[in-house]
Amino acid sequence: ISLANQIAAGEVIERPASVVKELVENCLDAKATEITVDIEQGGRRRIRVRDNGAGIPKDELALALSRHATSKISSLADLEAIQSLGFRGEALASISSVSRLTLTAKTQQQEQAWQAWVEGRDMQAELAPATHPDGTTVDVQDLFFNTPARRKFLRTDKTEFNHIDEVLRRIALARFDVRFNLVHNGKSVRQYQAVHSPESYLQRVSQVCGKTFTDTAVALEQQAGPVHLWGWVAPAQSCRHQADVQYFYVNGRMMRDRLLGHAVRQAYADTLGDDRVPTFVLYLQLPAQDVDVNVHPAKHEVRFHQARQIHDFVLQAIRQALQSAAV
Ligand code: ADP
Ligand code: MG
Repeated sequence: ISLANQIAAGEVIERPASVVKELVENCLDAKATEITVDIEQGGRRRIRVRDNGAGIPKDELALALSRHATSKISSLADLEAIQSLGFRGEALASISSVSRLTLTAKTQQQEQAWQAWVEGRDMQAELAPATHPDGTTVDVQDLFFNTPARRKFLRTDKTEFNHIDEVLRRIALARFDVRFNLVHNGKSVRQYQAVHSPESYLQRVSQVCGKTFTDTAVALEQQAGPVHLWGWVAPAQSCRHQADVQYFYVNGRMMRDRLLGHAVRQAYADTLGDDRVPTFVLYLQLPAQDVDVNVHPAKHEVRFHQARQIHDFVLQAIRQALQSAAV
């Protein structure tokens, strides 16, 4: 089981930012409305994620840290097979197999918070009473302390921090209704306030993407049957800073898709010429049966059943928005 965990961890948990992604997604699954990511040394020393969500009942703490699925790998030879599978239900187990992990939680029904911890290969979770408000804190220390080969691939604190910052930006643009805080080495570095009405969404976009983007961005909204595209595109000549603002969400999930990327580039080229770097925050909603989203957690690919129509719809919508901004 330990071998399996460490192999799985290698697939999903590549760096501190992957830990943050998994932990924050768990907070969202638990219906948290406020999430604090508190890291030290770019997350290499410590990653602590706290939420005010549903918590984990005392008798489920140990289970949460174990792989729920029966192990799919019995030898390294099976490694190839596992690459095509997701690792659902395995994130905490994977992280705990390559770190010193403490899980503290309290549900509304419980009087008392409880804490469980595991360290590296020792998958036996210990339980102790603790102090914690309703919700969950996962504290991950010394990532890859027992896998030196992986630890070697970590970059500087600054680089690892930047990856975490980006993970949080992507999630924050998908969940306007949740408040996010990022603390680095004891200093609060990001605060994304929750916004609840579409008129206020631009405030969140501004906090996440910067005023340089929102000052020049134009709103876009187009509907074609059940397919809906909305968001913002910036027509201004881009500077390097702005070039990072390229976010496309399909049914709430951030995607880096060839087809969509092409449609966006084409729209910019048609309207403004080739020298513009597209900057955008866009949301495409369409019926779930019209799209296949790759289940691999590390991939951001999507397959549209009517690829041509989607491409042209996106192209036309962005073109129109950019043209209206130009007049
Ligand atoms: P998955 O999210 O795929 O179920 P994980 O390993 O990420 O697998 O988490 C295991 C389980 O631990 C979750 O299914 C959930 O029950 C519980 N859990 C993890 N994080 C939290 C959290 N922040 N709040 C509430 N429950 C959590
Ligand atoms: Mg999870």
